[in-house]
Amino acid sequence: MARQKIVAGNWKMNKNLTEGVALAKELAAGDLNAEVEVIMCTPFIHLTAVAPIIQGVSNLKLGAQNCHQEASGAYTGEISAAMLASIEGIDYVIIGHSERRAYFGEDNAVLAAKTNAVLANGLQPIFCCGEPLEVREAGDHVQLVSQQLREGLFHLSAEEFSKIVVAYEPVWAIGTGVTASPEQAQDMHKEIRTLIASKYGDQVADDTTILYGGSVKPANANELFGQPDVDGGLVGGASLKAADFIAIVAGY
Ligand code: PEP
Repeated sequence: MARQKIVAGNWKMNKNLTEGVALAKELAAGDLNAEVEVIMCTPFIHLTAVAPIIQGVSNLKLGAQNCHQEASGAYTGEISAAMLASIEGIDYVIIGHSERRAYFGEDNAVLAAKTNAVLANGLQPIFCCGEPLEVREAGDHVQLVSQQLREGLFHLSAEEFSKIVVAYEPVWAIGTGVTASPEQAQDMHKEIRTLIASKYGDQVADDTTILYGGSVKPANANELFGQPDVDGGLVGGASLKAADFIAIVAGY
């Protein structure tokens, strides 16, 4: 079975409700490559409004960008995975985006707990990993990303792991306009797949969708996604304009 191709959009903290609904409607009406699963990861407040818009568009899915690891309780301002799962039509949750790691102090142990919460509620984590520039320059990127995956994910059973989508997002490429070269992306994706194989075996590794993220745009998506171990992308800025996002999906 060929692994699923995915292009996921991460809207981050952008779009008010009206703007978000309008963007979702444009995407739902767009000519989306049927071979690709297209995911919109919207802010929490958009989820219940966007879910009915994409109902019936079979390859268009909905995700959140974060959740809390606890099921409920005195965590003012937080949203649990159980709450997300109570929204009909949501399938994915981004876990461990570099902005969460950097600005909200989320470490690998917290991200392991969040991953557990997402899986326990029947949703799929899009688990992000990636190195900052100084780590890449020091040549330690494989080591750091391996540690993020080992400490964040490798407590899972093989069955649980089969629900994970991995997103490799070098921090130096996120929102900077600097994209990893296709070779850099392929090299790291191959390392990640080899690491997964060493823990879960070749079949699980072959079936794992590994996305590239970091300044993906219509002009570079095709070459990046054409690499043998790159199974699609996690797209920030370019997911906020329907025409760009649809062009990225179309160019797969
Ligand atoms: C991201 O936020 O996950 C991302 C990859 O952003 P951008 O595409 O804007 O670099």
